[in-house]
Amino acid sequence: MREEGDLAARFRRLIALHGPIPVARFMGESNAHYYATRDPLGASGEDSGGDFITAPEISQMFGELIGLWLADLWTRASQPHGVSYAELGPGRGTLAKDALRAMAGAGLRPAVHFVEGSPTLRRLQAAAVPGALFHDGVDGLPDEGPLLLVSNEFFDALPVRQLVCTPRGWRERMVALQGSDFVFVAGDKPMDDALPDARRNAAAGTIVETCPAAAAIMQDLCAQIARRGGAALIVDYGSHEARDGSTLQALKTHRKVDPLAMPGEADLTAHVDFFTLAEIARRAGCRVQAGTQGRWLTELGIDLRARALAASAPSRAGEIAAARKRLVQPAEMGELFKVLAITAPGWPAGAGFGETS
Ligand code: SAH
Repeated sequence: MREEGDLAARFRRLIALHGPIPVARFMGESNAHYYATRDPLGASGEDSGGDFITAPEISQMFGELIGLWLADLWTRASQPHGVSYAELGPGRGTLAKDALRAMAGAGLRPAVHFVEGSPTLRRLQAAAVPGALFHDGVDGLPDEGPLLLVSNEFFDALPVRQLVCTPRGWRERMVALQGSDFVFVAGDKPMDDALPDARRNAAAGTIVETCPAAAAIMQDLCAQIARRGGAALIVDYGSHEARDGSTLQALKTHRKVDPLAMPGEADLTAHVDFFTLAEIARRAGCRVQAGTQGRWLTELGIDLRARALAASAPSRAGEIAAARKRLVQPAEMGELFKVLAITAPGWPAGAGFGETS
C-alpha cells in the first residue's frame, strides 16, 4: 500500500464516483491543502529545508527596494493621506517587514492589509508584522484611500484551467485515474465555444492555459486602483508575451516532481500570463509598465544597496554578493521573473522601467 495524503485519497474516491476532475480543481484544492498545512519556504541547505525559496527570503534587499519604490511613487504623488499597503500571499511576512521598514524611513507609514488563505502562514505573518489585518480576498480590502499593493509569487499559485485540442475538437483537460496513478485526459464535453474562432484549427495536442482566478483578482484590483489612486507591483515568474502550452509544474524539496504525483504535498505553480494581466489593467484605465526582475532591481540601485550592506557587515559580504547575483543574473532569477507595475490615472509612473511608458 503506498503512503499518501488525505487529499490524494479524497481525489481517488471522487474520480471513482463521478469521473475525471478539471485540472483547475485539482490544482486549486491541492494548493489550498498544501499552503494550509505548512510553511513551504526555506533554502535547500537549511535544516527545515522547505520546498522552495523566494526573493524576499534570499535577501532583505528585495523587500527594501520594493518599499523604496512605493515610497518614491507616494512622494511624487504629493504624499496623500490615508494610504494602505496591501500584500497578496505574503508567505512569512518577510517582504512586507522589509518594505515597511524602508517606507517608514521615507516617512510613509500605511495601514497594513494581508490577503492570505493559509491559517498557518497567517500566524507567521502576524508575528512578522504586528497590527496587520487579514482578508480572504482583494474584494475584502477596505475601500478607502490610495492603495499600494504588492504581490510576489502569488499569481503563480492560482489554479489554471487547461483546454486541449483533440481530433474531435477542443476539450477541457482533466485528471483521471489509471490504475492507482493520476493521469491527464481530455474531457467528454465539447469546449470549442470557449475559444476564439481563430483557434478552431489548432494542431491536435495544442494546450491553451488560462487562469480565471488571476483575471478576476486583477480586474477587482485594477478597478480599486483606478478609483482610489495608488499602484500595484506584481512580481512573478512567467512571460510578458501570450503563449500556448501547459506550464503546470510541481516542486518538492527544491526538485521538480510530477505535478499529479502527490496532490497537496508539493507546490503546484504555472507561469503567470502577464500579457493578459497587463490587458486587464489597461482596460481599467491604469498605466502599465513591464520589465524583468533583474533590470528593475538594477535600475533601482541594488548594486549600491549591496555594497552598503557589505560595508556595514564585512563578514557577510560574500553572502550578500551571492544573493544579489541570484536575484538579478539572467541565468538565475533575473530574466525568468518579471515585474508588472500598475499605476492609477493621475499618479506618476513608477521608477525602474527605463523611459516612462
Ligand atoms: N509572497 C511570499 C510567499 C509566496 S508563496 C514570498 O515571496 O515569499 C504563495 C503565497 O500565496 C502563500 O502565502 C500562500 O498561502 C498564498 N496563497 C496561495 N494561493 C492563495 C489563494 N488562493 N488565496 C490566498 N492566498 C493564497
